[in-house]
This record gives sequence, C-alpha cells and structure tokens, in this order.
Amino acid sequence: EEGITVDELSQKIGQTPANVIKVLFMLGTMVTINSSLNDEQVELICMEYGLECKKVVPVSEVNFEDLEVVDDPKDLVPRPPVITIMGHVDHGKTTLLDHIRKSRVAEGEFGGITQHIGAYQVSVKGKKITFLDTPGHEAFTAMRARGAMITDIVIIVVAADDGVMPQTREAVDHALAANVPIIVAINKIDKPGADPQRIMTEVSELGLMPEEWGGDVPYVNISAKKGIGIDELLETVTVVAELAELKANPKRMAYGSVIEGRLDKGRGPVATLLIQNGTLRSGNPIVVGATYGRVRQLVDDRGREIKSAGPATPVEITGLNDVPEAGDKFMVFETEREARHVGEERAQKKIEEERNSTSAMSLDDLFSQM
Ligand code: GDP
Ligand code: MG
Repeated sequence: EEGITVDELSQKIGQTPANVIKVLFMLGTMVTINSSLNDEQVELICMEYGLECKKVVPVSEVNFEDLEVVDDPKDLVPRPPVITIMGHVDHGKTTLLDHIRKSRVAEGEFGGITQHIGAYQVSVKGKKITFLDTPGHEAFTAMRARGAMITDIVIIVVAADDGVMPQTREAVDHALAANVPIIVAINKIDKPGADPQRIMTEVSELGLMPEEWGGDVPYVNISAKKGIGIDELLETVTVVAELAELKANPKRMAYGSVIEGRLDKGRGPVATLLIQNGTLRSGNPIVVGATYGRVRQLVDDRGREIKSAGPATPVEITGLNDVPEAGDKFMVFETEREARHVGEERAQKKIEEERNSTSAMSLDDLFSQM
C-alpha cells in the first residue's frame, strides 16, 4: 500500500513538511518527510487545517469495487429478489422456467415475453421476482468465480421419480457455499409412483432441513409440466425474499453484472445486464467488463424499448464497442470520456492478463512434458 508521503501532502495543502510532521507528532505519531501516510492520518491533517480532503483514484486504475459508493440508508428501497434455478439434468429446470414465464407474463400484458434475453421478471401479487433464465452450474459457477454473486435465492429442482443425483449435490454445494437461501422444489409429482416424502428425506440429508421438520428450508411439491404447485412456489419465493430484506438505491448511477453477451448482425454487440443497484438510462456512458460505450438502446424482457430501468431488472443494451462476457461487471460513468478511458484501460489489462496466463500455461506444459 503506497499512501501519499508527508512531502507530497504538504505541497498539496500548502504547508511546510515540518508543520505536517508537527501536527502528527502532537497527535502521537512520529513521521519523517518521506513517510507515507494512511488515509486516517491524511484526514487528521486536513481536519487540522480545516480542509476537506477527498481521495482521488486515478480513473484508469479504477476497480469497480472501489467506486461502489456507500448508499445513504434513507435512499434504500426494497428491490425484487434475483432467483436462479438449479438441479440435475432433466429434472425440469427449463420446463419450470418456461411455465413461470408463460403463465405469469400474460397477466395484464399484451404480447407476453417474446424473446429470450437470459433473464425475466414476473409479478406475484404485485411483487416482482427476477429469474435468471440461464440455469446450470456453469453459468452460476462462472459468475461466482468472477465475484458476481447476483443470485439472492436458489431454487433446487429435484425430480420425484429420480431423487438426488450428482448435479443435485453439486447445486446444493454451490448454493450453500454462496450462502444464499435455498428453496427445494420437488418436481414431477404428477408422475405415477412419485414419492415426494422419500425425496424430502434424501434431500434433507444434504444439509437442507425442511421447515416442516423444524429446519429452515421450504420444500414445495410441484409439477412444472402440469402447472401444479407453481403459485405456492412463487409465494414461497416472495416470503423468503421478504425475510432477506433486499434493498437498493434507485437514485444512484447503475452498476451490475453481465448475464449474456453476443454479437448481433444488425445491432452489433448486445449485452443482457442485470442491474444490481441504481437506475440505468439510455444515453448513459458505461463500462462493461473490458468494453465501453454509451447505452444506445435499452430493451426489457418483453422486447420493448424503454428509457430507464431500476434495481434487479434485466435489460438488454446496445451501444458497446465490443462483446462483454457473462459474469463481467458493468458500471455507469458521468462522462463518455471517462467511460472510454476506463474501458480502454481495462481492455489493455485484460490483454496483458491473457498474455501472462498463456505464457504461464505454456511453461507448465513444458514442465509437465519433462
Ligand atoms: P432440465 O434439463 O432440468 O431443463 O429439464 P427439462 O425441463 O428439459 O425437462 C426434462 C424432461 O422432463 C422433459 O421431457 C419435460 O417435459 C419433463 N418434465 C419436466 N417437468 C415435468 C413434470 O412436472 N412432470 C412430468 N411428467 N414431466 C416433466
Ligand atoms: Mg434445461
């Protein structure tokens, strides 16, 4: 950690180094002209001279995390939960997602969801729920590996005629490791011979004690195909979400994560973003992973062009100079100049990182062949 030195600070605030050293000495710290100061010491000196000090991070070295302004609690409002559905192959994840999308979106809307953007939002008794439509461990694991923990609740789907399978275990492990609330949906209960009670016993042994047995994991019996139990499942989601007290600040500039990125023949780079905090508006200068641009078009999960979108909303955007990757983070900037600067810097870093990892890898290969 390299802080500002006594010498540098004294020049900045127009005091002699001797004065700065004296102030710190009176406050109980011995420093020399070349000592580097921590933030607290800088603050103390600024206070002593009645100055307001603000740490300026060179924009090119910006880590998005460092910019994550702490929201004033009074700006925070409840936001919808973001849900991922996981489970073993063929246990009914896609059928469940499709059923929810079709049955819920029609309500009072025309058109329904016409396109897949990798995520969608539904309304349950006036409360919104956001579903990530890219189930599977790869997506989830990739996101988690890149620090993009965007899921608030995981629904684990287990087929009643199959029970706990390897990917069920994996999914449970991931969800437990991510420390997110879990809901178990026992699917295919319409099948003859389905024994939800037996499945419940199996799943509970993975460390998911059912509520009805005194644990804290809700279990819901469903048939994704027949549409049985889906309302109860969705209501359970809203209850679990309420307990989690999820909040966000719609007043700030948006940041969030990339769900999908692709190149569209006509529209150029297209990215589906999940806004995790703030409000994203068309025209916003933005950095997305190692790409940048200005939000040209903002499209919702129904394929409608919109002007802005708030927290926990999935949107598709165009206007980027390149295609970002799933799990990349995005952040809005004040000016296009800043966005370009940061974006180019990040692209450069990415190239260097890739080059380094390739050479490291070939070195390993070399050794493994010896
Ligand atoms: P995924 O691999 O987890 O996405 O599973 P799918 O949604 O593709 O479902 C796999 C198969 O199970 C498909 O043939 C579905 O029609 C069937 N399926 C899904 N849900 C149910 C259900 O509730 N009942 C029955 N009987 N079949 C189901
Ligand atoms: Mg599927």
